[in-house]
Amino acid sequence: MYYDEAADAVLKTLNTSENGLSSGEAKNRLEKYGKNELKEEEKTSVVKLFLSQFKSFLIIILIAAALVSAFLGELIDAFVILFTVFLAGVLGFVQEYRAEESIKLLKALTSPEALVIRDGKEVKIPSSLLVPGDILVLQAGDRIPADARLLEALSLEIDESSLTGESIPVGKCTDIFPTETPQPDRKNMVYTGTSVTYGRGKAVVTATGMNTAFGKLAGLLGEIERERTPLQEKLDQFGRWLGTATLIVVAFVAILGIFQGFDPFEMFLWGVALAVAAIPEALPAVVTVGLALGVRRMVKRHALIRRLPSVETLGSTNIICTDKTGTLTQNKMTVEKVYVNGTLLSVTGEGYKPAGDFFNGDKPVSEDVHLHRLLIAGALCNDAGLFEENGVWDITGDPTEGALVVVAAKEGIWKTALEEKHRRKGEVPFSSERKMMTTLNFSEDGTYAYSKGAPEVILSSCTKIFLGGREEELTSERKQEILNVVNDMANLTLRVMGFAYRKVSEDTLAEDAEKEMVFAGLMGMRDLPREEVKTAIATCTSAGIRTVMITGDHKTTAFAIAKELGIFREGDLVLTGVELDALDNKEFEEIVEKVSVYARVYPEHKLRVVEALKKKGYIVAMTGDGVNDAPALKAADMGIAMGITGTDVSKEASSMILTDDNFASIVSAVEEGRNILKNIKNFIAYGLTCHIGLVLIVLVGVLAWQTLPVIAVQILWINLITDGLPPMALSLEAPDRGLMKQKPAKAKEGLVSKRMIIASLGLGLLIAIQSLGVLYWALGNGTPLPKIQTLIFTLVVVSLMFNAFNWRSERYSVFSLGIFTNKSLIYAVLSTILLQLAAIYVPFMQVAFRTVPLSLSDWAMIIPLASTTLIAMEFTKYLEWRRHR
Ligand code: ATP
Repeated sequence: MYYDEAADAVLKTLNTSENGLSSGEAKNRLEKYGKNELKEEEKTSVVKLFLSQFKSFLIIILIAAALVSAFLGELIDAFVILFTVFLAGVLGFVQEYRAEESIKLLKALTSPEALVIRDGKEVKIPSSLLVPGDILVLQAGDRIPADARLLEALSLEIDESSLTGESIPVGKCTDIFPTETPQPDRKNMVYTGTSVTYGRGKAVVTATGMNTAFGKLAGLLGEIERERTPLQEKLDQFGRWLGTATLIVVAFVAILGIFQGFDPFEMFLWGVALAVAAIPEALPAVVTVGLALGVRRMVKRHALIRRLPSVETLGSTNIICTDKTGTLTQNKMTVEKVYVNGTLLSVTGEGYKPAGDFFNGDKPVSEDVHLHRLLIAGALCNDAGLFEENGVWDITGDPTEGALVVVAAKEGIWKTALEEKHRRKGEVPFSSERKMMTTLNFSEDGTYAYSKGAPEVILSSCTKIFLGGREEELTSERKQEILNVVNDMANLTLRVMGFAYRKVSEDTLAEDAEKEMVFAGLMGMRDLPREEVKTAIATCTSAGIRTVMITGDHKTTAFAIAKELGIFREGDLVLTGVELDALDNKEFEEIVEKVSVYARVYPEHKLRVVEALKKKGYIVAMTGDGVNDAPALKAADMGIAMGITGTDVSKEASSMILTDDNFASIVSAVEEGRNILKNIKNFIAYGLTCHIGLVLIVLVGVLAWQTLPVIAVQILWINLITDGLPPMALSLEAPDRGLMKQKPAKAKEGLVSKRMIIASLGLGLLIAIQSLGVLYWALGNGTPLPKIQTLIFTLVVVSLMFNAFNWRSERYSVFSLGIFTNKSLIYAVLSTILLQLAAIYVPFMQVAFRTVPLSLSDWAMIIPLASTTLIAMEFTKYLEWRRHR
């Protein structure tokens, strides 16, 4: 039962210890208990996926048509129809299978991890490998990965709303509870699916996987939602509309044809084929593949998409609100300045290597009592660690705290040794809201409280200051003087923290120690901007995307860095959390578009910023990592979580995760998002051209000359091969040079732009005119019908292949893109041409498709005619280019 036993007893029952399991034992237990996973709903099997290809309305019509043909004794037609249906099914299957695989890959990448103690050391392991007896290390923002009994709870609070619906976090402890305690009141237990909102703790895993109390709970991290994207929705609607319209026209023309003396069966098949030609039934699948492949490319550029529709949102994002620390900067802190006893000292040394000296001007400073007290406060009120491996120094934990461990070591104050003499017996953890942290340490000289945090917060807890070896009164002049120093340091783009201490009685609680403290000094640390960020911000600007910095850091530091990076520009505003609080929503909305830096904000301010910007019509991307960032991430159009430093809770609320925490990766993702959208629009336009061309040819042929320019099976064939490979190849087209120089796409924009519709109409018309011209000419000189149909059949296919090159870019000439730069398209076109050659030269295919072999002179007519599709579009692109220049 665990909750009604002492912690020691629980450890004994589970045959483990505070040092955790050995890896060997963990492996044995994994075999015994199975993976720590909730059973997923049945996966779609390969067979099912294949069969699902034949569910579409059109395919059913086609199968019906095949049956009717067979019934009427037209076995060849029946066979050809069934064969094309089968091929279409295979093609659809291959595409969807690839999409499915991409999504599976994402799922594996976003699977959660847990911090555990194994073999006596803290390690991160995939949560699925947890076993009963594992020791969990819990901190704010963690999703609890298994049911566990607490061994240690420091101000630990858990959000159990996913289980109980109760939104107020529950305080946890390690007490023993009576056996009859109901589940929600067993405060020494933590349960799968809940999350840590505050504090930290340790717990021993008591149950995993389906054995957890809430094994049935769904919706954990790692689930990729497969919602349909707005584009897919629009495509569906468009398809339905087109389908209905076509059916009406086709039925009308078929009846007309029968009255004109056409064979009713021929008209029926023709009608079916035309309907198939007119409805872009393969496009939705190709769009899914386009999205999925794009998502796969994004992974390589450090962006993990959690929801497919987000890809489209990325393409239309026009403002990015980003954190500073770690996203814009490297989050590798080094203390450069120290302010003690009224003097500002410089610190030498680089990185985390504990080698460097303190200087007052050019005079070395060492063994100074004020400096020591400050460094001790920094090292004790601290959860980070410093270690050396292969000659390289590195830290564990928060880089801000790591820098404090390093700077203390530069004066010979080593945290591990110090902690042995000053045992920690209490603490109030740091949170972005409090902007301060306090520990209580017990030593030979008695109990001391040590605090660190934002300078103004620390100052407000202080009444004294350590000056000239004495604790003096902290007058308001002295306070002002310190604040001036803070400002000077911040102007140097340093991150400034204040430190304080206080001697307390032995029974004081940490929470009560944060008053009447003695101010010990300031430290300023350098956190260099990431190298790629400046260029990335410039790219955003040219792409019509604004960048806004939202940080918990000091106003001056934030402003100085924002200016350096090009985020802040003349005329912009800088707003602090306090200033923001003073504005009502209306006042805020009036200025929100001008603010480019928010400083000293709390997580809830982020939500206000998102809401105000959304109200102004922006498509907002917002980054976040902390436990309290989740609401803002959810509210943003594009919530972006940090893969490395981000909490589980923030990741779950996000639509995208940056695997390298880097701002530049957001910009890469936007570029990729825009590219995916561009490619999808291009192959939709390509598809439209094909469909418009075919429908016009057949309609006009029948109405004007009572002749079928192409027969039903040929239409099916054209449809199959032109809808198949080229669009897939177009979805692989690389970003073009103009992509990040254009304004973001309007969120409400239609499927394709007006100019694209005009272009595809024009091209479709051109293809139709050529074919009808050939029809007119051939009818005039008495060419036999099968020959005419073969000519037109081939002309259409070849024209469409030229047309595929047109839609590699809406704007740029194929020649400027490089004809061979999209290799897949070259292969796709060559394969399609080969298939077409087979259809007219392989004897049994000739029977199936009623074709006759074409002569060289026929080809001499077809190729130049077909190439006009490309020439016309190139010419239009040239005119456009000249007009723009
Ligand atoms: P960003 O929001 O861009 O990530 P940030 O890291 O400065 O910026 P917070 O983590 O909310 O934002 O920190 C706010 C302030 O709290 C910091 O400027 C610093 O003064 C103080 N602070 C940061 N980390 C700690 C800590 N571990 N202990 C005490 N105070 C801290």
